[in-house]
Amino acid sequence: MSSNLVLGQTTPVVKQPNIVFIISDDHAFQAIGAYGGKLMPTPNIDRIAKEGAIFQNSFVTNSICGPSRATLLTGKYSHQNGYAVNENKFDVNQFLFSRLLQKNNYQTAWVGKWHLGNLPQGFDYFNIIKGQGNYYNPDFINTNNDTVKQNGYVTNIITEKSLDWLNNRDPNKPFCLVIGEKATHREWIPDLPDLGAFDAVDFPLPTNFFDSYEGRPAAAHQDMTIEKTMRTIEDVKVHMDYVSDDYKRLNEEQRAVLKKYYDGITKEFDEKKLTGQELSKWKFQRYMKDYLAVAKSMDRNIGKILEYLDQNNLVDNTVLVYVSDQGFYLGEHGWFDKRFMYEESLKTPFLIRYPAMIKPGTNITRFASNIDWAPTILDLAHVKIPNEVQGVSLVPLLKNNLIKQWKDELYYHYYEYPEPHHVSPHFGIRTAQYKLIRFYNAEKNWEFYDLKKDPTEMKNVIGNKQYQMTIVHLKNRLNKLIEKYQDQEAKEILQKESN
Ligand code: CA
Repeated sequence: MSSNLVLGQTTPVVKQPNIVFIISDDHAFQAIGAYGGKLMPTPNIDRIAKEGAIFQNSFVTNSICGPSRATLLTGKYSHQNGYAVNENKFDVNQFLFSRLLQKNNYQTAWVGKWHLGNLPQGFDYFNIIKGQGNYYNPDFINTNNDTVKQNGYVTNIITEKSLDWLNNRDPNKPFCLVIGEKATHREWIPDLPDLGAFDAVDFPLPTNFFDSYEGRPAAAHQDMTIEKTMRTIEDVKVHMDYVSDDYKRLNEEQRAVLKKYYDGITKEFDEKKLTGQELSKWKFQRYMKDYLAVAKSMDRNIGKILEYLDQNNLVDNTVLVYVSDQGFYLGEHGWFDKRFMYEESLKTPFLIRYPAMIKPGTNITRFASNIDWAPTILDLAHVKIPNEVQGVSLVPLLKNNLIKQWKDELYYHYYEYPEPHHVSPHFGIRTAQYKLIRFYNAEKNWEFYDLKKDPTEMKNVIGNKQYQMTIVHLKNRLNKLIEKYQDQEAKEILQKESN
């Protein structure tokens, strides 16, 4: 008899682990040391990879904020959970993994960014920022539906509230805490100690920063370039008037420090009188400096969570996850933002530590996506995964990253159009080497990439003769995925085309 069986009983006694699931916003894997990013050190996020596993091929199924959180909650594609575009109301009455955890002995909490147009359900406790939230002195909505303004910097407050809940939980029950970071979302206002932290660094321009988008009509027609879309005042913070809600909330000290710093930036901007490509390059540097300063605060705060787990004997029996809701462009193709099925926004960081199961330093190259997060949590909690969930548990991979049988394709579908960034809706398939994308609505064309030969996706080779057999094969696989995931809209688009 194995040691986890209690004498005289047939039911194995399983120990349900605690779960801390940190989901940040728009945090690019290119900005994380563990992913080989050289832009800044991220010692605390890296520590999760060192002590656990890092997923190199971690994808999202619809690369924007709300839909990714809806997928985390349901383990389903947007077309199944009903939340395909931002600024809607997510139906909280449907299946949520957290509600199932509640029914299985867990105490559950969500702290920080939620932004699904509704109050959370399936959580015993919540303390969420209102809507998109503010970086300084933000409003939080608590479980009693009271809105309370909190003084301080949002990332610090989210950590304090998370630790507060951990300190006051029932120590006799397992817990699941979701920490929703606002960082590193636009407009990237750093915490006071981090202002100017990267001013001495000259960041290398991505090789395709000045992309002409040749052969890629949807890429040509977007509205998300650093050159044109990134706003000088609100995003780059030159000649600021401090009248938006983010700045109205500042206390005198915060305002004085921020104003002094950005007055210096404004002075530099005025003196240099840059235009054209030189101005774009300067905006890119400004973007990097603020974005990474916001990330610096987040990494430091994740360190506080790690430290708390260390000090409270919670390392061995707690699953610790770090993900972003999607990837982000840090100047690649000349862009910021996300949405496209291209690599920088299709991929998202995904690190997980659970000493009872995962060997330290595990490097996983097998495919995983955000539909898999909910079933993985349920599986780790020894809760049966309902049939309606579309993702799969990653536990077999966590136990053996060299497992033979594993999915080797990803289905993606993006919807939000035209605002805010004029990215034409599209769906597609990614395999280990290839990517096939079908744009519809605004643009109506196919794109095909050989990722081995063209990792930065600059050459759409859909018309290239040597790939025609591969493309036919991929279209076939795409059709099967559409069928498997029951995406009626995509199915109809392709049916119309074949008629
Ligand atoms: Ca996001």
